[in-house]
Amino acid sequence: MYIDTHAHLTDESFISRIDEVANGWREAGVGKVINIGYDIKSSQESAFIAQKYPEVYFCAGLHPSDGEPADALALEKIYELTRHPKCVGIGEIGLDYHYGEDRAAQMRSFTAQMDLAAEISVPVSIHARDCTADMLSVVKAYAGKLPSIVLHCYSMGAESAKIFSRLGCYFAFGGAITFKNNRQICEVKEVVATDRLLTETDCPYMAPVPYRGKTNEPKYVGLVCNKLAELYGVSDGDMQRILEENTNNAFRRNK
Ligand SMILES: [Zn+2]
Repeated sequence: MYIDTHAHLTDESFISRIDEVANGWREAGVGKVINIGYDIKSSQESAFIAQKYPEVYFCAGLHPSDGEPADALALEKIYELTRHPKCVGIGEIGLDYHYGEDRAAQMRSFTAQMDLAAEISVPVSIHARDCTADMLSVVKAYAGKLPSIVLHCYSMGAESAKIFSRLGCYFAFGGAITFKNNRQICEVKEVVATDRLLTETDCPYMAPVPYRGKTNEPKYVGLVCNKLAELYGVSDGDMQRILEENTNNAFRRNK
C-alpha cells in the first residue's frame, strides 16, 4: 500500500467532497492517510474525519504561521485530542521564518508543544522553513525525549540531514522530489538511509509531476513512492513495504 503521512483534508478544496477524495485514494492503492491539523479547529475536524474513515489517522497541533499561540488553553485542547484513539502525534508544529513573523513567539509555541509531546510521549510532525539553525538546536534538545520526530516536507539540505539523521529523525518527502531540477533530494539521499523515509502529499499543495500546479490529493502519493524507489534503486513494492514499516515506527497507533 501507499501511505500519505501528511494531508490536509480539512482544506476547503476537500471538505465538501471527502467521500470522493477517499474513493480516489482507495482506487489508487493508498491504504493509510494521516491528516494533519494546523490550528485547534482543523485539529478537531481532523478527529471527526479520522472517526469516519478507518484508514485515516490524525495529528493535532498549531502551525507556526497561523499565529494561534500555544497558551495553556490551546495546550489543554491539544492534549485532549491526543487522547483520541486515532491521534498519532502532535503536529504540525515548528518554525517558519519565510515571511519574517515574530520568531520569539513562534519559538515559544513550538517548544511548548514539544514539551507537551515529551511529557505525554507522542511523536511530532514538524514544519520547518528558512530556520535551519534554530531547528537544529531545538531538535538536538528534544531528540531522545520523544518517541519520534518527523521532519515534514524536508528541505534543509544534506549537511543538516546528516545531523537530523544521527538524531533519529524521519524525513517525509512529497511532490517536490518529482520536480525537474530537484537536486537537493539527490544529495539528501546519500546521507538518509531507507529506514528514515516517509511519503506525504501535503495536499492540497505540491502536487507531484505530472499534476504539478493542480490540486494535490492523497491519491497521488504513489508517484512520490515511485520516485523514492527509483532514487534508492529498489522496486516500488519493496519501497512500499519499507515505507509502511517506517510509518508504523514513526507514528504510534496507526495500525
Ligand atoms: Zn502541512
